[in-house]
Amino acid sequence: MSGLRVAVIGSGPAGVYAAAALSRAGNVEVDVLDRLPAPYGLVRYGVAPDHVKMKSVDVALRRILEDPAVRFLGNVEVGADIARDELMTYYDAVVFATGAAVDRRLGVPGEDLPGSFSATEFVAWYSGHPDAELDLFTLQATHAVVIGVGNVAVDVARVLTKKADVMAGTDVPGHVLDVLAASAVTEVTMLGRRGPAYARFTTKELRELGEISGSDIIVDPADLELTEQEEADVAADRTLRANLEVLREWSTRTPEGRPRRLRIKFWLRPVEVLGSAAVTGFRAERTRLENGRLVGTGSILDFPAQLVLRSVGYRVVPPAGLPLDPETGTVPHDGGRVLLDGAPMPGLYVAGWLKRGPTGIIGTNKPDATETVTALLADADRLPRAPERDPDAIVELLRERKVRAVDWSGWEAIDAAERALGAARDCARVKIADRETLLRAALGDEFG
Ligand code: NAP
Repeated sequence: MSGLRVAVIGSGPAGVYAAAALSRAGNVEVDVLDRLPAPYGLVRYGVAPDHVKMKSVDVALRRILEDPAVRFLGNVEVGADIARDELMTYYDAVVFATGAAVDRRLGVPGEDLPGSFSATEFVAWYSGHPDAELDLFTLQATHAVVIGVGNVAVDVARVLTKKADVMAGTDVPGHVLDVLAASAVTEVTMLGRRGPAYARFTTKELRELGEISGSDIIVDPADLELTEQEEADVAADRTLRANLEVLREWSTRTPEGRPRRLRIKFWLRPVEVLGSAAVTGFRAERTRLENGRLVGTGSILDFPAQLVLRSVGYRVVPPAGLPLDPETGTVPHDGGRVLLDGAPMPGLYVAGWLKRGPTGIIGTNKPDATETVTALLADADRLPRAPERDPDAIVELLRERKVRAVDWSGWEAIDAAERALGAARDCARVKIADRETLLRAALGDEFG
């Protein structure tokens, strides 16, 4: 019998590690579909441009996508270009690994005023995501407020604060670099609704905020006074201990009058984004813990701001009609097998953030994907075989539908075009942001 045919939807770390586990099993043909023309998901469009070492995981991902058992088909959107049910004509099983791309809402008045954005929008813009409007950010604000104290908040605060000449050595698109170079931002304030003992950032990422040339870091020592319970929680957790050490050192620093200031403040929860035609400020209420519960004290503080970035986490919107468990905010599953009303949906699997929520680091996706693939392979004998076994058939169908699929050679053409742009700016790569230009680079003469 011919080998198993599996589609993996999403070419971020979760999808690519699933493809790797499948190809390792042998006798499996894997197609990795992505709605974007370029692969690597959040490694390309989420990891901050100045985190060059973290981004270099793309070398390992590329090796997997170049495996002869694996085929990349970009610019193909499941649910739009091809329905989930149709996939079962071509594949015996489908692994969804499309992540959690939608931002969580704050739920306060003024959230949608011009000048108030989700961190997701800002990250997409500076990462050159094809869905982000090129002129979405102008950075004419002098004061920016970032809500949240997770690693995404740290990323966006750092990008706002770093000098543009440092960012010039990264892969940020030209239009992003121009805006960063002309940025009027001088004051960036990060607000955590709980205390420093419960911040979500990790120490390595936090530490970088104190090493930005041209920017003072300011932390109020009063924010770092801990209750007995907080002391105990911090003592029991290595990351929290190290975070507190870093914050305490910063709280003793005297600002040196650098051009920019980055303030990290705690115990302030969002009340309102202020402004009528556009953002003019951010209103927060002081908080404290009462029997372990976060409560407002009634004390209100207003921060001037013309830019608000809400960085309060991502949420899963299941693709192609997959179910959602409202309790966990993820696709219900058993070891990666998608469940509907508690019963497995034959041939359907999930991996990555869809499966476990928006947590963990890139490496977390390896064991996660392996678990899913182990379940899939254990089911293999019971899976109904797809009727169409010719690998060219799906390419033909997409062509008939005028879907301009980007194969691996198409991605290599994009890669070469971006490296050429990089050479002109004296860096390894400059990203192409707009979809049409990406497709033109990928498809050349075929681009109609
Ligand atoms: P996150 O770690 O869950 O942090 C979300 C932050 O938003 C928390 O500080 C949370 O506070 C706060 N928050 C949530 N709802 C809020 C509300 N209504 N009002 C005020 N604050 C609110 O999420 P993330 O920063 O988006 O990161 C997602 C994942 O990607 C994480 O696993 C992260 O480590 C990872 N990541 C890693 C890196 C890196 O390694 N360099 C970079 C980026 C992202 P509470 O704790 O009080 O809920």
